Amino acid sequence: MNNTTELPQIYLDANATTPVLPQAAAAALSAMETLFGNPSSSHITGLQAKHLMEQTRLRAKTLLGTGEGKLIFTSGATEGIQTSILSALIAAKSNMLAEQSYTVLYGATEHKAVPESLKHWLSVLDITADVKAIPVDEFGILDHQFISQQAPNALMICTMAVNNETGVFQDLSTLEDTIRSANPDIYWMVDCVQALGKTALDLQSTSIDYAPFSGHKLYAPKGIGFVYIRDSAPFTSFIAGGGQESGLRSGTENLPGMAALNVIFEMLLCPNDSTFSNSEQLTEYRQQIADTLVECFPAIVFNNSFNHSVATTINFAVPGFSSKEIMDLFDAANIRVSSGSACSSKVSRSFVLDAMGLPAWQSEAAIRMSFGPAITQAEVNAACLRIKIASNALTQSCMILDDSSDISDKTQLDGLLQLRSGASCTWVYVDSSSKQALIIDPLPELIQRLDTLLQCQQLTLVAAIDTHGHADHQSGREQLVERYLAKQQSDVLGWPVTQEYIENLAQQYQTIRIGSKQLVRLPTPGHTGDSISLLLCSTPLTLDNLPQQTQYAFCGDTILMGSLGRTNFDSSCSMELFHSLKLIRDCISSNTLICASHDYNNEFTTSLEAEIGRNNLLKAVLNEGLSVAHFQQLKSQLDSNLNDEVGTEIICGAFVGSCDKSKIKEYDAKSLEVAMKQDKGVMIIDIREPHEYALNHSQQSSLNVPLTRLVQFIQQHQDDKDKQWVLVCRSGSRSMIAAQAMHRLGFQQVSHLKGGYALSS
Ligand code: PLP
Repeated sequence: MNNTTELPQIYLDANATTPVLPQAAAAALSAMETLFGNPSSSHITGLQAKHLMEQTRLRAKTLLGTGEGKLIFTSGATEGIQTSILSALIAAKSNMLAEQSYTVLYGATEHKAVPESLKHWLSVLDITADVKAIPVDEFGILDHQFISQQAPNALMICTMAVNNETGVFQDLSTLEDTIRSANPDIYWMVDCVQALGKTALDLQSTSIDYAPFSGHKLYAPKGIGFVYIRDSAPFTSFIAGGGQESGLRSGTENLPGMAALNVIFEMLLCPNDSTFSNSEQLTEYRQQIADTLVECFPAIVFNNSFNHSVATTINFAVPGFSSKEIMDLFDAANIRVSSGSACSSKVSRSFVLDAMGLPAWQSEAAIRMSFGPAITQAEVNAACLRIKIASNALTQSCMILDDSSDISDKTQLDGLLQLRSGASCTWVYVDSSSKQALIIDPLPELIQRLDTLLQCQQLTLVAAIDTHGHADHQSGREQLVERYLAKQQSDVLGWPVTQEYIENLAQQYQTIRIGSKQLVRLPTPGHTGDSISLLLCSTPLTLDNLPQQTQYAFCGDTILMGSLGRTNFDSSCSMELFHSLKLIRDCISSNTLICASHDYNNEFTTSLEAEIGRNNLLKAVLNEGLSVAHFQQLKSQLDSNLNDEVGTEIICGAFVGSCDKSKIKEYDAKSLEVAMKQDKGVMIIDIREPHEYALNHSQQSSLNVPLTRLVQFIQQHQDDKDKQWVLVCRSGSRSMIAAQAMHRLGFQQVSHLKGGYALSS
């Protein structure tokens, strides 16, 4: 069974937060309903509340071995971090010498709360000190030599016991030796958030000055945490007010949170309580999950060394898959994992893995699976089974290969597929009846995926063709040729030697066949001297019916969405581009879909009609009789405004059109339900990838058009532009961009489900 709609969620994101354990939730509820007193009140209800609070504190102190140190309840670790840094820096400031330069040190893989708070408090307190990241090695272990060199001049050092992305732990005892031999008086904070319940701590036996903790990482609710402060460490209240917590942290206490923590501490302290597994057991669980991952994704790479990590975190990458793709897959299978750090989920790569010096692709594709120490064997079994279901869906949609030569269970491909890497596109056309495939502009990053696709679908590659010699990236064509087309004779761009032409007295264009279609080669120099455009046409084909028969025009960079290919390379020629644009206009219809080599703006495809509507230069060439000389002048002005690089990318055309995104009608789950009841014409299109759709779809969303097939869908529905399509995806972002792209091409009634399935189930 593939559809996991009815199956319970598998939660493997404990390092972001944990569910509240039922016993802890019951205790919190009772503290809200019965033991709800204010610990500062002197009546019996207040005294009972205070007793609960002090019992929780005592249990925490016992568990962590705090000795004479203070343990103050806070709202969470971030507050504990502020308290620690503020306390240390105020004390350090009073000892600073005017002529000396200072630093503050933090581990390069620290949670952002640490460096950001350091910078914040240095600025607020007007302290001049360099904020320096302590490098880590490939295992995530701090560079002790660096610490030895830097600590003598440092006001404070912040390290972490266990990393939240990788689970990597530091050996606190050797770290202490290094720090104290370099500077016996430096204030030392250890972020212990991810260590609680996973590694034993005996704080009094160390010289750690400050240690913040957070309840929601260990089955307590959000909003409760605590911070340990060594008895001899300086302290300044971070919150002043009514004098609660013996005047150390004001504000009426979060008693329900404490009640929940109290139960969790009790369980951790009771040797006979089996709620939490010991580290041997957790290590066994990790192995079972890791074995399953290896079985399902044989090429998997683990980003954390298990020898240097707590057993509850696995960080991995699958070659050929972005972390977003794996997240989408797992989310569809009802498995929750995270990419990089949940606290910085907008960042598409992991600064932690970058700091460890891992290859860029591993950092970009990183997935974190983390579980809490209360996980059970039954839950591990369920997780492993679900991972297998998820990977099966990938096998069926030919994203990964299995051993079977039977393709009957595979989703059969037919038609056009748009694959992308960054803003560059590779186009694949498959003719399912003849089992032939054609690949245009193969990107090297996609070769593995293309290879898997060809093998899995048992396709014969007819040709792999570049539309021009790309300036911004290497073509992946050679690799495909070596593997599939070694015997084929072709030109430098991969156009096969052919004797087939469509012609009249004036012109002659070479063609090749793929299934029932013909591919026509138009020489369209300009952007580069070798640029060609490839027209995929229905048959029978003649030069006279060419515009009507052309379904897709692969114009490379000659016509880009919102722009024209730049003509300021050595082999460029704007005069040739002028003529090439006219040739394309003569050979395609105004609605033929133009499939470019780049999609800088998430527009998928375009047409001459759409481009002329927003690209004045193109309009002037094609409709207004602009002279060649004037075109050359305008084009050269345009190219001179071109920013050569955006990030690491060379932009292949100056944007001249408007990229204003149109306002798309948005539904929420309720209004969509009403609309569908009222109007039978409202149709839902699920635009997730086929494996996501297979794993999780309701009866309602009967049509699946993944983003990779959107261009084909647009081509096939040119006559349905007035239909009320409602696009739906996981979170509402893919559906939004797809709806905007369709709207731009004339689908006036297209709309999308805001917030996606995530908010409608
Ligand atoms: N430190 C680490 C290592 C963490 O993992 C987190 C949360 O992810 C924090 C600090 C911040 O904790 P909180 O959000 O509970 O304040």
